Amino acid sequence: MTKTPERTDVAIIGAGPAGLFAVFECGMMNMRCHVIDVLEAVGGQCQALYPDKPIFDIPGHTRILASDLVMKLEQQAAPFDPAYHLGQQVVKLAQREQGRWLLETSRDILIDAQVVFVAAGVGAFGPKRPPLQGIERFEGKGIHYLVKNREGFRGKKVVIAGGGDSAVDWAISLSELAAKVSVVHRRTKFRAAPASAEKLQKLADVGAVDLVIPFQLAAIEGDGDSLKAIIVHDLDGNERRLEADALLSFFGLSQNLGPIADWELNLNDSLIAVNPGTSATNKPGIFAIGDIATYPGKVKLILSGFAEAAQAAHAAHSLVHPDEELHFEHSSIKGVPGNRLK
Ligand code: FAD
Repeated sequence: MTKTPERTDVAIIGAGPAGLFAVFECGMMNMRCHVIDVLEAVGGQCQALYPDKPIFDIPGHTRILASDLVMKLEQQAAPFDPAYHLGQQVVKLAQREQGRWLLETSRDILIDAQVVFVAAGVGAFGPKRPPLQGIERFEGKGIHYLVKNREGFRGKKVVIAGGGDSAVDWAISLSELAAKVSVVHRRTKFRAAPASAEKLQKLADVGAVDLVIPFQLAAIEGDGDSLKAIIVHDLDGNERRLEADALLSFFGLSQNLGPIADWELNLNDSLIAVNPGTSATNKPGIFAIGDIATYPGKVKLILSGFAEAAQAAHAAHSLVHPDEELHFEHSSIKGVPGNRLK
């Protein structure tokens, strides 16, 4: 049976900072948004790659943690009631009648939108999976590639694999609440920031963390789809069995433009060329904003994505509401739902 598509004004591909702020800007122009992201959480690069790092060049914030910026952007968008479709990739985009667009996701959700904003950064994030047999069975249950809820690991035996910032930062953080934290890394030296690596070593010295180095993941032991242990080997063939309720695998995230490359958008070195005044692409009704959009003089910063989101929302208004004249009002005059000023 053919599914009935969900109908919306604007479909936003990518829930990074540009996509999230676009929800706000579209909301201010009376346009409702559906937002799709392949990650299970909103925030794009900020949430997936550097949630605990401070950002210093967001206007009006002398210093803000990347994860706090994401939280505030989500809160700012909330009054406009966006629909989020997370954990799924937009795999198809096709033109419909009356200039509308039909999007299909990897979870078979169909979205019928008047306008599409491609806010896909440098492409869809996907985990770099360790080559462990049967790993798919445990993904999202015992095996995770990013931490959505730190509290979920309280009292658990956690094995963390990797040698970079994510592995080291989460080992330090989870050592405060997990029953046991083991860190598996194939080298004896960690690539993380020196201060963090030093802190990890101090925790290991007092027995708060078990450093399993230089070892590599070799196999998973489970009961059904419940994780029991991780087997690790060193280069000499020595084996250890680490009891585990959870494995956090931090071997980085791959990014792939994926299906977007097939949508006949004007691509320039895997970036989408847009009109710098409107963020419009070569396809009517499709706009590109944030890191994926390019034009002469483009500066790849979060704040550029914010400005592009505002420009695209203004340009999209006449397509979504062709019979309404756009009366621009500043937010300080108009207010937002639940906080109207007049
Ligand atoms: P992204 O944040 O990349 O989000 C795009 C989202 O789209 C991703 O979540 C992806 O999964 C999703 N997606 C892509 N394709 C699909 C698809 N087909 N279907 C579904 N979802 C899809 N910038 C600053 O301004 N200041 C800084 O201090 C700063 N520090 C940084 C530090 C680090 C370590 C890194 C890596 C980046 C930093 N940046 C900084 C850059 C900044 O994070 C990016 O410019 C910003 O995240 C771009 O936002 P975006 O919304 O365009 O894309």
